[in-house]
Amino acid sequence: MIAKQKKKNSGAIGILDLQGGVYEHLDHLQRLGITARRVKHASDFNDLAGLIIPGGESSCIARLLDIFAIKQPLLKACERGMKIWGTCAGAILLAQKVVGEASSLGLIDIEIKRNSFGSQLDSFKSEARIPEVADDPIPLTFIRAPKIVRVGKDVNVLLKVKDYIAAAESESILVTVFHPELTGSLAFHRYFAAKCGLNPAVNTRSCSEQQWNYDSWTRLARSV
Ligand code: GLN
Repeated sequence: MIAKQKKKNSGAIGILDLQGGVYEHLDHLQRLGITARRVKHASDFNDLAGLIIPGGESSCIARLLDIFAIKQPLLKACERGMKIWGTCAGAILLAQKVVGEASSLGLIDIEIKRNSFGSQLDSFKSEARIPEVADDPIPLTFIRAPKIVRVGKDVNVLLKVKDYIAAAESESILVTVFHPELTGSLAFHRYFAAKCGLNPAVNTRSCSEQQWNYDSWTRLARSV
C-alpha cells in the first residue's frame, strides 16, 4: 500500500553523504525512477520526503554528524515528516539503545549490538522471505553487521532470524542490518519509497538482476 504524503515535499529521497555506501543507494533509487540526491549540509534536509543513512562505520558517521552540525536539522526534518531508512551502520545510528555504547540519533525504539557476527571476514550472504516487502525471497548481504536484540511495542518486526531481528520499522523509521543496495534487488528501495509516499515509476519486476552488477554504481561515482 502506498502511504499518503503528509506535507508537500520535493518528492526526493536523500542519501546522507558523510561516509559509507552512498552511490549504491543512489543507483538503486535511480533504477526505480525516484529522484535521489546526496545530502551533507544542514539546508539539504528541508524538503526531503525521505533520507537513507547508509552502511559504513557508525562511530565515524556519528562524529561527522556532530562536526558538521547536521544532527539538529536532520531531527527537525524527521519531526516534520521525513522518513528515514538506516542500513547497517545507519540502523545503529537510529537506535535508541546501543549495547555498551552511547546512542546517536535515538529515533527508533530498538536495542542493537554492533559487530555481532564477528569480524569483516565473518560477513555473509543469505536470503529470506519478507512478505510485507516482496513476494519472492530477498537476497541479504551482511557485512560486519549488528543484531537488533530488542524492539519496543510500537516497532514492527519485518524479519527475525534465529536469535536476532534483522529488519524492523516504526511509523517513520525503517532499519535493516543487511545491505539491499549491494544486491540486484530493488524490493527494499521500493518499499521505502512507498513509506515516503512516493510511487516508483518503474515496476521492480522489470529491473531484473541481469541488468545489475556489483559495479553498476561506479558510473555515478565517476560522474562527480
Ligand atoms: N560494523 C559497522 C559499525 O559498527 C557497521 C558495518 C556496516 O555498516 N556494514 O558501524
